[in-house]
Amino acid sequence: MKQVAIEGKLFDLYIGEKELQARIRMLAEEIKEYYDGIYEEPIHIIVMMNGAFLFAADLVRQLDFPLHMYFVKSSSYVGLSSDGQVEFVLPEDLDIKNRRVLVLEDIVDTGITFQQFLSEVIKDHPKDLKICSLLVKNKNSEIKSRVNFVGFEIDDPFVIGYGMDFNGKARDFSDIYILKEDEKYSS
Ligand code: 5GP
Repeated sequence: MKQVAIEGKLFDLYIGEKELQARIRMLAEEIKEYYDGIYEEPIHIIVMMNGAFLFAADLVRQLDFPLHMYFVKSSSYVGLSSDGQVEFVLPEDLDIKNRRVLVLEDIVDTGITFQQFLSEVIKDHPKDLKICSLLVKNKNSEIKSRVNFVGFEIDDPFVIGYGMDFNGKARDFSDIYILKEDEKYSS
């Protein structure tokens, strides 16, 4: 099994590039089907940075309708766990009032980031708001049900690669890796 070691921790290959790209193609089809016939104006896409940068780059190039893209910086994770404090840096030109908005996330874990962000975005009264996350951790079914487009449902352990980091490393990997079972992890 392919493994990588980062800062003394071992990670096993979890979702390979081919499987990832195939699922993203299917997600793009699902999203196109949803917006089919209702995009009288550009769909406003909000990419949650930094984690979703590769996912967004691959997904949006397969959408065949006009888009307006925004990038929001959010951060809550330090090392292997979240400290529960989420901060957002919103673009100055964010203008989603009465727009159709699609938020792209890398991973929804506790859902804290996504719920706090939704409460900020909803204040701007979008016409329609949908969430797409490449990965959703299984543990919280209520949160899971609020994500409209899900790439993969996964178990709890910490993952890296394809945009997702461990202390700033591994974002550039084309595959997703999972922390080895015997490594310590707390979310
Ligand atoms: P939540 O607020 O849902 O617990 O976490 C959301 C954010 O935490 C994600 O956008 C991502 O940046 C980070 N995160 C959550 N789980 C993981 C994980 O397993 N690996 C990495 N690298 N980041 C994660």
